[in-house]
Amino acid sequence: RFISVEGVDGAGKSTHLAWLAEHLTAAGVQLLQTREPGGTPLGEALRGLLLNEAMSLDTETLLMFAARSEHLQQVIRPALARGQWVLCDRFSDATFAYQGGGRGLDLQRFAMLENWVQGSGKERIEPELTLLFDVPLEVSQARMANGRVLDRFEREALDFHARVREAYLARAAAAPQRIRVINANRPLDVIQSELAELFAGLGWA
Ligand code: C5P
Repeated sequence: RFISVEGVDGAGKSTHLAWLAEHLTAAGVQLLQTREPGGTPLGEALRGLLLNEAMSLDTETLLMFAARSEHLQQVIRPALARGQWVLCDRFSDATFAYQGGGRGLDLQRFAMLENWVQGSGKERIEPELTLLFDVPLEVSQARMANGRVLDRFEREALDFHARVREAYLARAAAAPQRIRVINANRPLDVIQSELAELFAGLGWA
């Protein structure tokens, strides 16, 4: 199975991902954990550029999809073919939210690249389940401000982050079966019980 995890910066995604990976592994799942942009040596090099270098929106988007293409071919497709589960920290929904919502990328271009890189029809590869960790803007801003060195995206203004969040929620509303919105503005144990219940309900773990 292919599962992706999404959220605005500062939603606590990394903490939830780590917990989920442990939960699934404890349930006997053969799990491959990976991330975007990244996941391959080339992808990680592209990540370094994407997070640190100023560039045009087109370049940013094309590099995101280039990293994704490499990741799919080198890591994700082979793992799924071996019968492993793939747990991916961000995937295409992040491009929809950040380059689309945040930066205003033409959504037709996004769709075109998505079809190119993820394939169409029977060959199409897309997460079966996407967990979207959602918190109000004040909460994510406060968490981000908490001492870390911020990357190029995290340093963007408040309205950028507001558009990213809105785009994520709109995408979830358009695909409610695949994308489950998790209210991440609650205590960790409450969120973890909800996740455990969700996976049990699906009969997955
Ligand atoms: O998941 P993580 O926070 O480590 O992601 C690294 C950065 O890359 C984030 O700041 C995120 O906003 C950005 N990103 C992006 N577009 C994507 C994927 C990630 O802007 N498609």
